[in-house]
Formats: sequence, structure tokens, C-alpha cells
Amino acid sequence: MEQKKFKTEVSELLQLIIHSLYSHKEIFLRELVSNSSDALDKLKYLNLTDEKLKGLSFDPRIDISFTEEGDKRNLTISDNGLGMSHDDLSDNLGTIASSGTKKFLASLTEEQKKDSNLIGQFGVGFYSAFMVADKVEVISLKAGEEQAWKWSSTGKGSYTLEEAVRDGHGTTITLHLNEEGNEYANRWQIEQLVKKYSDHIAYPIFLSYDQTTYDDKKKDKEGNAVKKVEHKVEQINSSSALWRRSKSELTDEQYKEFYKQSSYDSEDPLFYVHTRAEGATEYTTLFFIPSKAPFDLYHADYRPGVKLYVKRVYITDDDKELLPTYLRFVRGVIDSEDLPLNVSREILQQNRVMSAIRNASVKKLLGEFQKISEQNPELYTKFIEQFNRPLKEGLYSDYANRDALLELVRFKSSSQDGYVSLASYKQRMPADQKSIYYIAGGKESTLKASPLLESYRKKGFEVLIMSDDIDDIVVGSIGTYKEMPLKAINKSGAVDDLKEEKDTEKTKEAKSLVKKIKKALGDKVKDVVVSSRLVESPAVVVVDENDPSVQMQQILKSMGQ
Ligand code: ADP
Ligand code: MG
Repeated sequence: MEQKKFKTEVSELLQLIIHSLYSHKEIFLRELVSNSSDALDKLKYLNLTDEKLKGLSFDPRIDISFTEEGDKRNLTISDNGLGMSHDDLSDNLGTIASSGTKKFLASLTEEQKKDSNLIGQFGVGFYSAFMVADKVEVISLKAGEEQAWKWSSTGKGSYTLEEAVRDGHGTTITLHLNEEGNEYANRWQIEQLVKKYSDHIAYPIFLSYDQTTYDDKKKDKEGNAVKKVEHKVEQINSSSALWRRSKSELTDEQYKEFYKQSSYDSEDPLFYVHTRAEGATEYTTLFFIPSKAPFDLYHADYRPGVKLYVKRVYITDDDKELLPTYLRFVRGVIDSEDLPLNVSREILQQNRVMSAIRNASVKKLLGEFQKISEQNPELYTKFIEQFNRPLKEGLYSDYANRDALLELVRFKSSSQDGYVSLASYKQRMPADQKSIYYIAGGKESTLKASPLLESYRKKGFEVLIMSDDIDDIVVGSIGTYKEMPLKAINKSGAVDDLKEEKDTEKTKEAKSLVKKIKKALGDKVKDVVVSSRLVESPAVVVVDENDPSVQMQQILKSMGQ
């Protein structure tokens, strides 16, 4: 038996992992399973390309089992992948494999090493096993070799290597669980973790366990039900990763089924967008638009429904960086080939690969919405009925995509049924109309009944009915659409185009009346003026051009301003 020392950086890394990743200790299983998956990938590849290994026939699989002896519990993860030779074991499990990790570790100051957030920024991989085990044994036989080897360590500075026996190529890792890790020698825990992190890896994962049943019909001498123990082996991952398959292979039914399973929505999605990008950044996205806006879409604690995977391994769904907030209603999957497995929230925010994926995904989604609006207006109306409002949020939060969003948002109109786009409004504008008119601050029915609409209607000018409570904020950030200014007709400045008739006989007559009204209303109004905007109604309340709208004032009041 040889005893070898870890490279200093390994010892250092081990200390960091054990002390700072403690609250995420369950990720050890994800790391070990993904190493097995990598080893299976490697062997599959060599099986096709390497002369020596071409004859090999194998069914790639990963097996998990656990044992309980008193309070000693073991957990075993085994694969029939490429395996490791004597030198592989000491090279791969005695040093830090990734040079990126090494550099990163070297760049940390002593102070930074104490910061638990930083550790998430680099790959911890195999060594995470020491968070839950006080001893780890690895028995491995490299495909094409005769001799198997056993690597063993308590994670305290050194490891041993000795000859061992193994049936067939592959690697078996046995964790002697410590007190914190004991909970993982449990069928439900393992199933749950595999479902969470490794459900979609390419190979089947089997769990073996003993199932104890009691047969009530058969009693023993004391009259107790007879106990029966059966050994079971069950596949616990679905290993489908549907998004990795090509579009032409998939049916509409399969997409819908996948959506319902992964989102817990009982209804079909409205539509979906499946994209594979190859080239500088390689990734796959599969986005679903739900048929109904989630009930909590506007709650502060709403959780967006996009999951990030790296090479089929689940990383997170709790990251506001995956898509911009206004697209939080989108559900689905982003699967990247280029991100590290242990990418943390901090690193996602600055990561070049992630921001490329994010930008391209936003463009793709907005492009798809636009396409549907042109090709399938009925579907688009359903979409707008649910998601007009979040799209409007995009107008003031995503300036880079403002032009695309301006084409997508819809408003009600004084002269049209249903929803209208700014583009169609502009098309209907008579030649003498110089602005886009809207009325905001109230319910749709109230706004549509406003006497202010009368004179616009008479001139054949359409007015947008901005009855969404977000419209007020949004319209301010629109400003202009294709060089057409947007003007509120319930603010005093909008009347310019209507050519106010000044100093006619009638206005002179009205002057004394205006005086009396002003006196009667006193401080309740800013001013009383004669207007030509009204056709049938005698008077109307408007807001000064520079003041917030009535609804805005109500919002401010309710906030105690
Ligand atoms: P990474 O997976 O990022 O390379 P890890 O710490 O997870 O880092 O693993 C270190 C190395 O150990 C791997 O690169 C691989 O060469 C080797 N290894 C770990 N687990 C296995 C396994 N089950 N089969 C074969 N090789 C393995
Ligand atoms: Mg790994």
C-alpha cells in the first residue's frame, strides 16, 4: 500500500469546502453522479474511436445503493464508465483537476477564503464528498486494463492507493457517511436529490434498496403479520432531457407532456420555442408560454420558471439573471455546454457566456411573439390577454429591446374593438393628425365614456384607452412612437392639434361664467378655462400637462405622499 500526500491546494480546498459549502452539502450527489456521467461519455466515445476499445460492449449505467449497520451508514455510487488507472487516481483525486480552480484559489486572499460566497465560484467536484463522509473509498478499473485500484482517504492531508478487485471496468465510490451525512442513506432522500439535480442526465440511474412488507393474511406463531424483505432495483431518473432531442423528432404531444410534468401546470402551454445554438456559445433553450398568467406573477416573492442546466445537470431555477424580470412568466430550460458545473449566482451575473445566452434568448422570444402576432392573431390575443402587462414593464426596464417591445404591446382604443397595436393606430391616422392620443387614469369603461373623447371622435382621431394601472408609468417611458409624440387628452397640453378657437364671441361671453365657477370652486382647482374640446358635455375635469394624472395622484396619495 502506498501512502501519498495531497497537493497543498487540495488540502486547502477541502477545508474551504467543508466549512463554507456546508449549507449546500446535498450537492455532493450531483457532483458524483455527473462525474460518473462524464466517465460514461468518455468510454462511449472511445468505444467508437479507439482501436483497443472498439470491441467492448457495455450498457452504460449508474447504480446507487446504501447500507445501514447500526449507526454506521454507507452510500455507494457506481458506474461502468471509463474508470481510472493507478496514475489517473493519484493525478485526478490527489490534485485539483481544473486549472481554472487552481488559479482561482491562488488568487484569493486569506480574507477572501473565509468568505463562504466565494467558494461557489469554482468547481468543487469530487471533494464535496467529504462534506458528508469521514472516509471515501474509490475502487476503479480502467477499461482495457487488468488491474483495479483502490484509493482511500479521510480527507485529512493524505490518501492511500492499493491493488483491488473489481468486476468489469468503471468506478465505485463508497462514502462512509459522517453524522451530517447519515440522512443520505435513505431511499426517499436519494430519489429526491436525483430527481432534483440529475433527472435528465443521459444515462439511467438505478437505486437498489430492500423493501420490507408485512403480509396480514399470514401470521406467525405469535400472531404477528409475516415480514418479507425484497431486494429491489429501480431506475430513479427519467433521463429524457427532451430539449436535447431535435425538433423534428418531437411531437406536439411530447412537448406538452414535458411542460406539464416539469411545470406542474395542469393546462397545455399556449406555445413553446425550442432553439439550439451552435458556434461560439453552445446551448439549447426550450421555453414555454403558459396559457394563463401564474396567479402570483405580481407578487414580490414570485419564482421565475426557467431552470438552468449545464450539460443536462440541473444547476438552479432561483436566479433572476436567467431572463429579465419582465419575462418572468416564461417557463422552461436553458442548457449550456460552456458554463462550469459550479457556476454561482455571483458568477452568473458577470459571466460572458450567460449574458450571451440571455440576450439571444430575449431576442428569440420577442421575435417569436412578433411572428405569432403577424401569423396567428387569435393566438396572439390570448397571449396579450395574459401577458400584455409584463411586456409593458419591459418598455421601461429593457431599453435595448424597446423597439421590439413597442410593436408587441397592445392597448384598447376609442374606435376599435379588442386590442390595437401602435403600428395599426399609426396606419389609421388621418393626414392632419400629428400626435398619438391617449387617455389614461381610470377603468376602461370610465375612460371610454369620457366627454373628452367627443371632439377627437368628431375629427376622426382615434384615442388609445390606457386603462392598465401600469400604463401611466409606461406611457411616460414611450414618449414617442416612430417620431409621433404620445399626448394625453386628459392633460391640458394635448389640445394643440384641435386648434382652440380663441376670443370668439362665445369665449368672451363665457368669461364671466368662468369667473363665477372659479370663485365657487376656490382652491379645489388649479384653473378654469374655456375649451373647444367638448362637443356635447358642458364641462370636464382635466389635469395640467405638467402634473401627474388623476390615477397617479391616487397612487401617490395611497403611498402617503
Ligand atoms: P471535474 O469533474 O470538474 O473534472 P472532479 O473533482 O469532479 O472535477 O473530478 C476530478 C477528476 O476525477 C475528473 O476529471 C475525472 O478525471 C476523475 N473522476 C472522478 N470521478 C470519476 C469517475 N466516476 N470515473 C472516472 N473518473 C472520475
Ligand atoms: Mg466533476
